[in-house]
Amino acid sequence: MDPCAANDPTGDPAPLDPAQFGTGDMDPEAFRQHGHAVIDWIADYLTDIGERPVLAQVAPGEIGAALPAGPPRQPEPFPDALRDLEQVLLPGITHWNHPAFHAYFAITGSGPGILGETLTAALNVNGMLWRTSPSATELEERVVDWLRQLLGLPDGLRGVITDSASSSTLTALAAAREAADLDVRRRGLAARDEVPRLTVYTSTQAHSSVDKAAITLGLGHDAVRHVATDARYALDVAALAAAVRADVAEGCRPLAIVATVGTTSTTSVDPVAEIAALRDELGDELGVRIWLHVDGAYGGMVALCEELRWVLDGVEQADSFVTNPHKWLFTPIDCSVLYVRDPATLTRAFSLVPEYLTTGDEGVTDYMDWGVQLGRRFRALKLWLVIRYFGAEGLAERIRTHVTQAHRAAAWCQGHPDLEVLAPTPMSTVCFRARPQWLPAADEDELRALNHTLLERVNATGRAYLSHTELDGRTTLRLAVGNLRTTDERLTETLQLIGRELAALRDPG
Ligand SMILES: *Cc1c(COP(=O)(O)O)cnc(C)c1O
Repeated sequence: MDPCAANDPTGDPAPLDPAQFGTGDMDPEAFRQHGHAVIDWIADYLTDIGERPVLAQVAPGEIGAALPAGPPRQPEPFPDALRDLEQVLLPGITHWNHPAFHAYFAITGSGPGILGETLTAALNVNGMLWRTSPSATELEERVVDWLRQLLGLPDGLRGVITDSASSSTLTALAAAREAADLDVRRRGLAARDEVPRLTVYTSTQAHSSVDKAAITLGLGHDAVRHVATDARYALDVAALAAAVRADVAEGCRPLAIVATVGTTSTTSVDPVAEIAALRDELGDELGVRIWLHVDGAYGGMVALCEELRWVLDGVEQADSFVTNPHKWLFTPIDCSVLYVRDPATLTRAFSLVPEYLTTGDEGVTDYMDWGVQLGRRFRALKLWLVIRYFGAEGLAERIRTHVTQAHRAAAWCQGHPDLEVLAPTPMSTVCFRARPQWLPAADEDELRALNHTLLERVNATGRAYLSHTELDGRTTLRLAVGNLRTTDERLTETLQLIGRELAALRDPG
């Protein structure tokens, strides 16, 4: 039968049969019931999380094989899915919210942040234009400005929330390309003999997202110059100056410098103020504009503490700066903030408004003009809730605690006869390795194998999770503190575990 009955002669639209054509969604009462169960599940999860194995102890393919190959034909009860989350998926979850997660950079989905994510899903706002939710845009503007103030950055910076530091840096370097006035937006870069090679300078310790941005923007991976660092793994400014001048002599045009505040391996801090001064000097000398971008994805947040604010010295001279609330500001992934001094350059790079997105609204920000994305999540909400929950002093206190805990761990490594610390600890990440007294003649290959074995043994216990890097050819273990649930007791337990596993390498019996 045709579900559309003939139109009513009164002119009202003919109704569909509600028995056959309901909304299909979970009704509000069922939602309330399942919602309470989900919140209870989360509260229990966070209570016991420290007893779960932090690194998932499963083989590749194991989880996939436990999932049905095809979708269900018929509706399934919601509690069944919650049960499978617990039974099927949790064994394959590496618990980033775990108090002994010390790999990469430790992060926290805090209570207010988790609730913020829930509310974002409920509102399901797409903040592409101001009018598609004025509150989404105006809260985003406000909350990124709060964060700017919390970090002690100057008034002139305007911010936008993106999904990741990788996207933020890509966006910043796209603006840098636009600022070079080469008409790249219209003409592209291919088949243009008159455009010189555009080079980007960063340190050997910089994050790979800088390279990825250059690749994506058509500059080519070869265009990224990885400048040497000093003994503290901070960018060597004299080497930077020499690299730029050498490239210019070869006909290159320096496009951008990317400095890092808190590098991924060691949290070293590039001397941004000196780099900015060099950028100005080179700009005058060469008659080109060189964009300065600062990557503080993790480390930027230490500026919440007055006594550590020096790390951002010089950032006020940068054209752009990125920091990630999802790394060290207790906000669930994803949430990155890109600050720019001149939003007009960014919108010149990205604004493209088809007829169906024109509005005539004046004096407003349409964040779709600030990057690649049209549709945008309402990420500002969770960040707002996090900042309000902790307050400026509470946030600073937590960061300070993590730094202190890392210093305690570094001191322990330093004092251990069979361990050595391989880099300074300006933030909350300790770089160390085993160098046992009982292997006095061990060469780098032996030490590499030994440290990988130690790392695997610690991680296989499920009681702690560390990661590794390489510094000057030496395999280095990393212990990053940054999770709110890492108590001093638990950290002590982790250090004891490292000590025990190391001792066991000597006496395997
Ligand atoms: C983690 C990190 C990044 C990448 O961050 P995403 O948000 O995962 O893209 C970039 N730079 C530095 C210094 C980082 O520590």
